[in-house]
Amino acid sequence: MIVRTRVAPSPTGDPHVGTAYVALINYLFAKKHGGKFLLRIEDTDQARSTRESETAILDSLHWLGLSWDEGPDVGGPHGPYRQSERSAIYQEYVQKLLDAGHAFKCFCTPQRLEEMREAQKAAKQPPHYDGLCLTYDAAEVARREAAGETYVVRMNVPQEGVCVVDDTRRGPIEIEWRTVDMQILMKSDGLPTYHLANVVDDHLMEITHVIRGEEWVSSAPKHILLYRYFGWEPPALMHVPLLRNPDKSKLSKRKNPTSILFYKAMGYLPEALVNFLGALANSTAAGEEELMTLAHMVERFDLMHVALGGPVFDVAKLDWLNGRYLRERLDADAFEARVAAWGFAPARMKRIAALAHPRIERMSDLGNLCGFFFAGRLNYPVELLRAGKLDDDALRAAFALAQAELDLLREYDLAGIERVLKGVAESLDKKFRDVVRAFYIAVTGSPTSVPLFDAMEILGRDVVRERLRHALEALGKKEKTA
Ligand code: GLU
Repeated sequence: MIVRTRVAPSPTGDPHVGTAYVALINYLFAKKHGGKFLLRIEDTDQARSTRESETAILDSLHWLGLSWDEGPDVGGPHGPYRQSERSAIYQEYVQKLLDAGHAFKCFCTPQRLEEMREAQKAAKQPPHYDGLCLTYDAAEVARREAAGETYVVRMNVPQEGVCVVDDTRRGPIEIEWRTVDMQILMKSDGLPTYHLANVVDDHLMEITHVIRGEEWVSSAPKHILLYRYFGWEPPALMHVPLLRNPDKSKLSKRKNPTSILFYKAMGYLPEALVNFLGALANSTAAGEEELMTLAHMVERFDLMHVALGGPVFDVAKLDWLNGRYLRERLDADAFEARVAAWGFAPARMKRIAALAHPRIERMSDLGNLCGFFFAGRLNYPVELLRAGKLDDDALRAAFALAQAELDLLREYDLAGIERVLKGVAESLDKKFRDVVRAFYIAVTGSPTSVPLFDAMEILGRDVVRERLRHALEALGKKEKTA
C-alpha cells in the first residue's frame, strides 16, 4: 500500500499554526513511508472562504518548507483539489445515498427548526434534528418538490447502538449513535457540507490515513457511516490534540498569536518554527536540544510517538530555538541576507519610504519615525495611552471592539481599517480623532507618526492584533469597585 495523507485546510482566515502542525505530521508520516502528501482546499463554507486566505495558507506552508505532491497549485491525477470546483461530483454521490435510502430530503423551514431547537433546549436535550421528514413517503416528497419547496439533504443516522471509532493512536473511542445528528450533507443551494465533501474526496483521492485535529473526533461516526453507506473501505483515522496556550487552554489568538504570518513578520526563521512544531509533535523529544531539519524529522518520525497530551505552544521556547537558529545556523552573510529579505524587502521598503518621505528633515529621522515597522513589542509608557481624551474604560472598549472587527474584515486594507475605526468611534460615541490617537500609540508607539491606516496595512492584521493585545494588557483589567 502506498501511504497517502493530506491536509485539508478551510481558507477562512489567517494561516494558523495548528494547520501547519497537522500538515507537518501528515507530511512526516507520508515521507517516512515513501508515500504522497496532498493538500486539499475545503472551501465548502462559501460565505467565509476567501482566495486571499487560501493563498496565505499555501504560501505559509511553503515558507515553512513543506511541499505537497498533489494540490490546487501543483495539480495531480485526482483534481480538482479545491472543493468549490467539485460540486458535480458531490451531487452524484448524494444521489446515490438518496437512491439507497441512506439520505433523505428535508423540507423543514428555518422557523420549524428554530422552534424544535428551542423545545429541545427547554427539555435540556442536545440540539438535534427530530427526523420528521424521514417519515414522508415518496409521494409526499414528490408533492413538496413539485410545489417548489426548498430542501436540504440529510443523512439517515441510526438512533440506537454505539459507533466505535478506531483511532490509530488512541484506540477505540465509543460514541453513541443517538448523540449523532442527522447531518445536512447538501445545502438547499445544492452545495455539499464539509462532511460529505470530506469523505467523498478522501475516498476519491485515495487517502490511506486521515490525521487531523481532535476537534473532529465527534464527526468521525458520521464519516464512518458514510463510508459504510457507500461501501468504501475507510482510511485509518487518527486525531491529534490541539495546540494549547501555556495556561493549557486551546490555542487562541486572543491569548497567543496563532497566525504563521505573525511569526514570519516577527522575524522567526521557518526552519526554527517547523523544528519547534516537529518537537511539539514528538512526545519523545522532551528535553532534546538538537536542532532538526525537516529531512532529519522525517527520518526520526514515528506515528506512535505523536504527542497525545495537548502540546503547549510556548513562545518563550520558540524564541530560544529561533535564537539558536539565527546564531548557530546562519553565518554573517546568510544572516544579512535573511534580515534583508525579512523586513527590508524592496517592495515593503518602498511603501515605508513613501510614507516617511513627506515627514522628514533628515534621513536619520527614519529611525524614530519608522522604527515601529521593524519592532516586536513596543516600549511606550502606558501613561501615553492615558494622556489622550479617552479614559481607561473607553480605551479598553475601543481596542477590544477594533480587534474583533478587524478580525472580521475580509480584506485587510486601508478602506476596511478606516471603516472599522470610524465604527468604533461611533459606537463608543467618541471623537474619531481621539480614537485614532489611541490607536497611533498602540500601533506605532507614538501619538503622531506616518499615516496610521497605511501603517496598519503594512504591519498586517496579525502584528496589529498583537499590538492591540499588548495595549489591553498594559491597561490592565478593569478595576472592580467594591
Ligand atoms: N477542513 C477541515 C479543517 O479545516 C479538515 C478536517 C479534516 O482534516 O478532516 O480542519
